[in-house]
Amino acid sequence: MPNMKSLIDTLEIKGTLSKEEFVELLSGYTEEDTEYAREKAAKTANQYFDNKVYTRGLIEFTNYCKNDCYYCGIRRSNTNVVRYRLSDEDILSCCEQGYELGFRTFVLQGGEDLRYSDEDMIRIISSIKKNYPDCALTLSIGEKSYDSYLAFYKAGADRYLLRHETANEEHYRKLHPASLSLQVRKQCLRDLKAIGYQVGTGFMVGSPYQTADNLAEDLLFIKELSPAMVGIGPYLPHHDTPFAEEKQGSMELTLFLISILRLMIPNALIPATTALGTIHPLGREKGIMSGANVVMPNLSPVSVRKQYELYDNKICTGEEAAECRFCLQNRMHQIGYEIVTARGDFVPLQ
Ligand code: SAH
Repeated sequence: MPNMKSLIDTLEIKGTLSKEEFVELLSGYTEEDTEYAREKAAKTANQYFDNKVYTRGLIEFTNYCKNDCYYCGIRRSNTNVVRYRLSDEDILSCCEQGYELGFRTFVLQGGEDLRYSDEDMIRIISSIKKNYPDCALTLSIGEKSYDSYLAFYKAGADRYLLRHETANEEHYRKLHPASLSLQVRKQCLRDLKAIGYQVGTGFMVGSPYQTADNLAEDLLFIKELSPAMVGIGPYLPHHDTPFAEEKQGSMELTLFLISILRLMIPNALIPATTALGTIHPLGREKGIMSGANVVMPNLSPVSVRKQYELYDNKICTGEEAAECRFCLQNRMHQIGYEIVTARGDFVPLQ
């Protein structure tokens, strides 16, 4: 019987494990082991970030998407989605509201919407950076060419979120249509890093067909990429997708993986995601207590919130930005953490 606690000790010391050891840990852990890892991860997060939680204002600016990922509610084939795009003015007014609420990072996220040319994105990026030069701008708009990524970076984008979704070829094929490939996704991540972005990657926990072996590969891929940010959340079904009947991911495993990631990359920016808050009313609090240090409340106009539905029952689709901001502040306060206004850039280890 392998000793899980000694594997967690090794992980803490070495910042990684072998693939076999990760598989062992992920297929044999008990509740006691997750608590053991959680305490270590919370301590590590506290060493680097004290009780501070960074906040990012999420602007979901388009739900049009050319892709057809089997898990995603805004996939192209879902004709029941009411599609929307925010105008430049709408986006800037989200930023204005966000800035007043203390946000110093804006995240522009969307489906892969072909309507936006590079020039359109450059115009939007430049105007946000011109109006809010003290803010960081994060993009999360999917796969683009090296040249497009470079142009966005030159226009002022600081960070980029692109989850690899799964590091295993076979598993990738089961989650995506043939038009998408893991090779391209990984190349995008390497391009983004080479250009100089603070890069975020990640995956869904409990996505259909995922195995402990796949998760071990995800962790090793992340270790190798060495990203500034890692976002993970439970897979949650959406009723209008091919995976509608698949079961949701586990909160406990998501929290355990957050702790593992914190021990792997002690200074990483790790969000307690909306999916985690959706699967359990206190999911985000538990995420922070397991080693996460970022929350990403929604700044999108309430009129479109419900339409950016990647999965069923997504939380916070009815509240104004200010309500979300103060709700999270209270939630963090309840568990002894404090939301801060700082940009919260990644600080490389010495
Ligand atoms: N088009 C962008 C943004 C995708 S949405 C891109 O390609 O990066 C952000 C993330 O939501 C995805 O990367 C995916 O991991 C997650 N997501 C999508 N559908 C989901 C679902 N049904 N349950 C949980 N997370 C989901």
